[in-house]
This record gives sequence, structure tokens and C-alpha cells, in this order.
Amino acid sequence: FILFMSVFTGTLISLCWHFWRSKKTSLSARLQRALAQGRLSLVYQPVFEIQSGTMSGVEALLRWEDDDMGAISPEVFIPLAEETGLMRQITEYVTARAFSEMRELMQRHPFTLSINISLMDLLADDYLHFLSEQARLQGVTPGRVILEITERQGGDLENMSCAIARFKRAGFLIALDDFGTGYSTISWLSQLDVDEIKIDKSLSDSITTHSLNKTLLVNLILLLKSMPQKVVFEGLEEAEQVNYLRSHFPQSYGQGWWYSRPLDKISLQQFLISDK
Ligand code: C2E
Ligand code: MG
Ligand code: MG
Ligand code: MG
Repeated sequence: FILFMSVFTGTLISLCWHFWRSKKTSLSARLQRALAQGRLSLVYQPVFEIQSGTMSGVEALLRWEDDDMGAISPEVFIPLAEETGLMRQITEYVTARAFSEMRELMQRHPFTLSINISLMDLLADDYLHFLSEQARLQGVTPGRVILEITERQGGDLENMSCAIARFKRAGFLIALDDFGTGYSTISWLSQLDVDEIKIDKSLSDSITTHSLNKTLLVNLILLLKSMPQKVVFEGLEEAEQVNYLRSHFPQSYGQGWWYSRPLDKISLQQFLISDK
């Protein structure tokens, strides 16, 4: 009986495993097809100066609308792309497309363009070549392009710091994304020469609470104020958060639904006109 039970549960586990894996494989095949057919699109979320309320930049965010499955979140397909070796292709697609959609607007308005890249892209030499070449071909100034890297993936600080130096020598800017969600937060700050720190929504949320997190945030703001990097608060949804930052950290920047949702190219164009 014991033998039977162990064979039975073993089979069950392996069946579940195969089901889960084949679901993942088919999703990744769909993603590959969407990419090949140019059916992934970009939206752009504006970033604002807290004090003046002026728009200072946009962040390109990838969207995937599958015919059968509807909208699939980047929180799902980006990790999948990383696992299945599709990441580089996606990053190159995002880079080229963001440049071609934003180049004209960037000539007319002085904003920066942020692109999310994966740690693998940062560490590989050939992505930097691709990026520089695209910037040159499309006439985008490297000093107005910010590459966002996230600490979520963790990595060898020594390698990362060398890679960051290479991107900066080529004129590009680097942002540390999702600050406050990982493990090595403070050591990253002291060891990586980044231009911008993006405070994760989970920390921005604590502006309006009275928890231990709020105490942490108050002290983090004191620390960040003493640092040379530009600081962007993500996920601002309420006026109270913006008001708090206006009085406690006016030199910081904000991004979130309170200011604007991510917009497609046309809506961003209209937004820029109405903002004038
Ligand atoms: P992220 O880079 O931290 O981007 C910010 C996320 O917060 C975006 O989610 C944005 O739509 C969302 N957001 C902005 N303001 C608010 C707000 O006020 N409230 C709430 N609830 N959410 C807000 P999204 O577009 O779903 O992207 C999720 C993550 O997927 C991104 O986090 C980024 O890590 C990744 N991602 C998106 N596009 C790309 C891409 O082109 N390449 C790579 N490598 N990763 C990407
Ligand atoms: Mg980002
Ligand atoms: Mg972020
Ligand atoms: Mg985030």
C-alpha cells in the first residue's frame, strides 16, 4: 500500500509539474509570436517635479494584449522572458520603439526618457552597443535617456558597478528602480554610482500611514536629501502624498496616478499640448 501511495503521489506531482511547465512554454511561445509580429506596445508614464509640478520625463512601460487571453501584466511576462531567453530581444524592441516614438516629442519638449532594462542587459556588452547605435541613428541624446535597473534580481556589485560605469561613459543615465523592496538596498546605494533613485510604491504608500514604515520613510527622506542623486517617488495616488512631499522633500520627483496614468503616444502628445 505504501508503495502504491508513493507511486501515486509521485505521478500526481509529476503530472502537475508537466502541466505547469507546458502552460509556461505555451505562454512563452505566444510572447515570442507577439514580439515577432510587433504586437507588443508601449505606454509612457510622465514624471513630475514635486515643487513646480512641471513634467520632467516619461517612463516607457511595455503592454501585451493577447487575442485570447487579453491583457497580460509585465509582472508576469517579464520574468517569463528572462527565464526563457527572450529578454534581450524584448529590451532591444522596447529601446528601438521608444526612441522612434519619442524622438520628435523630445526635440520639442525637454523631457527625459526612462527605459526598464534587465540586469542581464546591463551586464552584457552588446546591449550597450545596440543602445548607442540606436541613439545615434535615431538622433536621441544619450544624456536624456535613463536606464532603470532593479535590485530585485540581485547581482554581483563589482560587475554591476563596472557595467554602470560603461553606460555612463557612453553618456547614458542610470536609475535604481523599486528602491526599498529588496535586501541589499543601502549597500547598493553606497556602492553603485547611479544618477537617480526610484522609491517603490510600497514606501510611497507609507507617507499616508502612521506605522513603523512611516518612521522609516521619514528617516530615509533625511538620508536621501543628503545625497546627490535625483529621487523619484513612484505610485503616488493621493493629494496627501504629494502635499507631504511638497513640504518635506520639495526637490524630489513624483510619478503616479495622481499625476497621470501611463499614456499611449497620442495621449502623451495631447497631454504635452494641454500642459503648455
Ligand atoms: P516599474 O518599472 O516599477 O514600473 C512602475 C509600475 O507601477 C508600472 O506598472 C506602472 O503602471 C505602475 N504604476 C504607476 N503609477 C501607479 C499608481 O499610482 N498606482 C499603481 N497601483 N500603480 C502605478 P506596470 O506597467 O504594470 O509594470 C510593472 C513592472 O514591469 C515595472 O515596474 C517593470 O519592472 C516591469 N516592466 C514594464 N515594462 C518593462 C519593459 O519594457 N522592460 C522591462 N525589463 N521591464 C518592464
Ligand atoms: Mg521602472
Ligand atoms: Mg519602479
Ligand atoms: Mg515597481
